[in-house]
Amino acid sequence: MTGTVGTAENPLRVAIIGSGPSGFYAADHLQRQAGLVVHIDMFDRLPTPYGLVRGGVAPDHQKIKSVTKAYERVATHPSFRFYGNITYGSDLTHADLARHYHAVIYAVGAQSDRRMDIPGEDLPGSHPATEFVAWYNAHPDYADFKFDLSQENVAVVGLGNVAMDVIRILASSPEELAATDIADYALEALRNSRVKRIYVLGRRGPAQSAFTNPEIKELGELAEAEVIVAPEEVALDPVSQQFVDSGADKSATRNVEILKEYAARGGSGKPKQIIMRFCVSPTELSGNGQVESVKLVKNALVADDKGNLKAKPTAETETLPIGLIFRSVGYNGVALPDVPFDAKRGVIPNDHGRVLTAAGSGQNVVGEYVVGWIKRGPSGIIGTNKPDSIETADCLLADLQASALNAPAQPDRAALESLLRERGLQAVSYADWLLLDEAERQRGQERGAPRRKFWRVAEMLDTINQRKGQ
Ligand code: NAP
Repeated sequence: MTGTVGTAENPLRVAIIGSGPSGFYAADHLQRQAGLVVHIDMFDRLPTPYGLVRGGVAPDHQKIKSVTKAYERVATHPSFRFYGNITYGSDLTHADLARHYHAVIYAVGAQSDRRMDIPGEDLPGSHPATEFVAWYNAHPDYADFKFDLSQENVAVVGLGNVAMDVIRILASSPEELAATDIADYALEALRNSRVKRIYVLGRRGPAQSAFTNPEIKELGELAEAEVIVAPEEVALDPVSQQFVDSGADKSATRNVEILKEYAARGGSGKPKQIIMRFCVSPTELSGNGQVESVKLVKNALVADDKGNLKAKPTAETETLPIGLIFRSVGYNGVALPDVPFDAKRGVIPNDHGRVLTAAGSGQNVVGEYVVGWIKRGPSGIIGTNKPDSIETADCLLADLQASALNAPAQPDRAALESLLRERGLQAVSYADWLLLDEAERQRGQERGAPRRKFWRVAEMLDTINQRKGQ
């Protein structure tokens, strides 16, 4: 019976797996329900909260990171608990969650990358942009990755905002980077970088770019790098021109204007060049034990039956000498143990956030919900997650009303905490995180940076324990 769930005697117990924006927006919405007594336990496999705000947002975008103030309000609510350093699937299983919670919300994001599926893609020197992003953001799983920054010619494939972040980090001066919370080791590696030319390879045209106006503008404001756009690269095909002239998508119109401004500017002689190329697709990476070149095919833009312009390869090809390439062609979701997965879309199949037994089955899994990129795919900015998470949380609340949640055998928090203790797990609480946060900020002062991140889990736990002992 779940009829009285949500009262002081029988609080609604919700587990949220993942502590990024989508998880926090779901928690926030549940906490805001007048008269509902809800205990939220949020789990993260890392000791640190905030998901992509910490591990994805570029280090020079500190303003965006200030969104965590809102998450801090949620996390310091008396009935909320953060359990960092606890991995779903191994430390805590699906069966454990069913025993302890009325509802589970999966908020794990998209933890892998899409591929280009071309020959040579796995040669050394060819990397997903997502790995580089996690590396420069001090994600513990990526701290030991190596990127050959002794190369002068680098390519970045894709025209999204992740591509823009990667390009900016590659093209920034050491002074620009030192003022950010970039990982110490990444700052050091980039200080010694010999990268001179960054080719940006878009499969469609300027009007179809996925980046947003501030991000393309920022590339033109770097101390040591300039954007090179050949005038013929921004000469639009008639359909794109009509689209831009119609003003239907103001962001696309402005993107084209900014690119045309770059084309008109010409070179200014800064040491690094960001060379924008449109309507080209990599078809092969070649090299002797390491990427040495990328073969490109020129694309024509062709309207499909819905009027969308698609890239269609022509017979024209060229080869660019490069020694390092990042594919920034999107993130991809990863299946969780014992949770349905739609491998085709890289998401947990769902109906407005209710987990389905399989894509299109129409049958939901009782008490299981999903939010964020693992719900809808890897698109949208941080704020996009707010309405997305509210939609899911509203489904959960409707199921609560309908007494259609899970009926856990041990819904009290003490039982969950004793389970973690029995398993010898050191969960990091939100108060613990605040100690680590303070330590990182203090370390940052030495460098004039907002923080200097720890990147080893053991070091994070030691720091917390030391500070607790003080
Ligand atoms: P994205 O915005 O979806 O961009 C992916 C890019 O990859 C597109 O240009 C796409 O081109 C291209 N692409 C896909 N498959 C390709 C292929 N096989 N060959 C060549 N190009 C290919 O994805 P994202 O950059 O990973 O960003 C994910 C989300 O996070 C986006 O919503 C983004 O705005 C957001 N984000 C925001 C910020 C910020 O606000 N500053 C920063 C980072 C990320 P087509 O258009 O032709 O498909």
